[in-house]
Amino acid sequence: MGKEVQIFEKNLSEFFGRDVACVNTGTSALQLSLQATGIGNDDEVLVQSLTYVASFQAISATGAKPIACDIEVTNCSIDLEDAKKRITSKTKAIMPVHYSGQPGELDKIYKFAQNYNLRVIEDAAHAFGSTFKNQKIGSFGDIVCFSFDGIKNITSGEGGCIVSSDKKVMNRVNDLRLLGVERDTEKRYSGGRSWDFDVQEQGWRYHMSNIMAAIGIEQLKRFPEISQKRKSLAKLYDSRLMIYPHIQIFKKDYDSIVPHIYPILIPEVFNRELVRRQLLENGIQTGIHYQPNHWLTFYKDSNTAFLPNTEKIYKGLLTLPLHCDLEEEDIHYVVDTLCSIVRNLE
Ligand SMILES: *Cc1c(COP(=O)(O)O)cnc(C)c1O
Repeated sequence: MGKEVQIFEKNLSEFFGRDVACVNTGTSALQLSLQATGIGNDDEVLVQSLTYVASFQAISATGAKPIACDIEVTNCSIDLEDAKKRITSKTKAIMPVHYSGQPGELDKIYKFAQNYNLRVIEDAAHAFGSTFKNQKIGSFGDIVCFSFDGIKNITSGEGGCIVSSDKKVMNRVNDLRLLGVERDTEKRYSGGRSWDFDVQEQGWRYHMSNIMAAIGIEQLKRFPEISQKRKSLAKLYDSRLMIYPHIQIFKKDYDSIVPHIYPILIPEVFNRELVRRQLLENGIQTGIHYQPNHWLTFYKDSNTAFLPNTEKIYKGLLTLPLHCDLEEEDIHYVVDTLCSIVRNLE
């Protein structure tokens, strides 16, 4: 970690309009954000069950307990009514996940956090470039974490970052990512290293390398092109799929968000696994975002044995291909194939 990371952080700071710290993955961005706010053993963090297991692992890595919450069926964001019922004296934070690139009602989430005195750590791994009420995700809010993993909206091969206006949190994150070595960031950015230093707490080897940052710098330059491509492919899916009665799409405004994935809902009568298998036979890979975390052995809990919206949505979820190497004709092929499969199953 040296000059390239410093440049990538500076470019990202200009993009978001505030301080940025780069780390080696999105998962470590979430973990360090939690630790830097003082969250740890015995604390509880509210998070939606429908997210990648990384959100849960980041919370449990600090010693805190992820409290699985239900989602809103319209946009798969955390259901605040459900979250409210799960608040205890141990609850310290809420982690909203901007599923597929679309944030939920963040103004309500921040109001909720204020009412219950919670920190907000946004898992914005899907939402690089998205906006909420004309403001870029990451440009406002308590602490916002992104991932630059190979499949995300921009990539640095592997990587992630933390964005916040809280100087105390940012200073602590800067030390924590370098094994807790105090003020090593400044020394590395001026070409040096710390040989004589102190460490105050458990840190991690989570810094970003120059090689990763060099990739990230170039990706960020290409972001206008990348985001246009993702938006236009998703709009094309919408316009084609809207007219099929059996397939439910999630309505989104692609002028204000950058889609990371393109999930649809297949009605239960059609047997999603059969549809997936037939798509694969036609050369189309699909995904399922995500298996609910409250079903996993490590996170099972009698309090969250049943989350109705999550389980209902999960049964129908199917993610269609969405990435920058796809062309319009590929989208037509996916839609035509999917619709003929569903029609034959009718
Ligand atoms: C990708 C992802 C992460 C973690 O990012 P990594 O860079 O892979 O560690 C966290 N949360 C969600 C929702 C993700 O999709």
